[in-house]
Amino acid sequence: MQPARPERHVSLAYYRMKMGLTPGAPGGTVSRVSCETDSGACDLPAGEFGEWIERLRAALLHEADADVPCGDCCACCSTSHFVHIGPDEVETLAAVPAELLFAAPDRPAGHVVLPFDDRGRCPLLDESGLCTIYDRRPLTCRTYDCRVFAAAGIEADRPEITERARRWRFSCIAPGDSDRRAAVAAAARWIPAHAAVFPGGAVPDDPAQLAVLAVRVADVFLPGGPATTAADDVAVAAAIVEAAR
Ligand code: SF4
Ligand code: SF4
Repeated sequence: MQPARPERHVSLAYYRMKMGLTPGAPGGTVSRVSCETDSGACDLPAGEFGEWIERLRAALLHEADADVPCGDCCACCSTSHFVHIGPDEVETLAAVPAELLFAAPDRPAGHVVLPFDDRGRCPLLDESGLCTIYDRRPLTCRTYDCRVFAAAGIEADRPEITERARRWRFSCIAPGDSDRRAAVAAAARWIPAHAAVFPGGAVPDDPAQLAVLAVRVADVFLPGGPATTAADDVAVAAAIVEAAR
């Protein structure tokens, strides 16, 4: 049974003021693990890298949920992110009170966003840190995985999420895992450093988008891949664009 949804005040004025910001992408908050240290800053097992990257790639194709062991963290649900909901997310739209939905900027009609309250929290997050529509949460939330920042070796767009991401520790057991891990980090470094060679100079400036792109195109940076064999940076960029399709 879901916890009762708490009454929340959504700051519409603040929402409008922030509409120019890139919406973030919160994740789930139900499964729980505990930290064994008093500081609460212990390492967290992120899982086996190869399995993780395949699961995340499946999530990005909407074939699976990201399945993050969030424990008692709800950082991405409580740090002033707008959550996009598409018009085809019928069950989610039915679960969210209409007064909490606002037209998404720069998107076609029917796309909406969930704003955040005056504490920066999603209005569907209860006081204990649980999502009150977890089974019907938006795709944005289902595909969000802060381990992507650990894999890419970059900071998130919120310090609370960066703090969490820094605690993840992947295991690289299967053959090729270490290479894949290094390839994700290499992609995250290479892409922003070579923005000029991409068509229109267009590379993500949002950390989550950059980290996800690095996961998607990491094979370009594997040993023997285009990053090591291509004639020049333009050819590497072309290989990245192709891999991202
Ligand atoms: S920041 Fe990471 S661990 Fe925390 S709720 Fe979001 S996805 Fe889960
Ligand atoms: S809908 Fe649920 S999972 Fe998504 S941001 Fe809100 S509380 Fe978090």
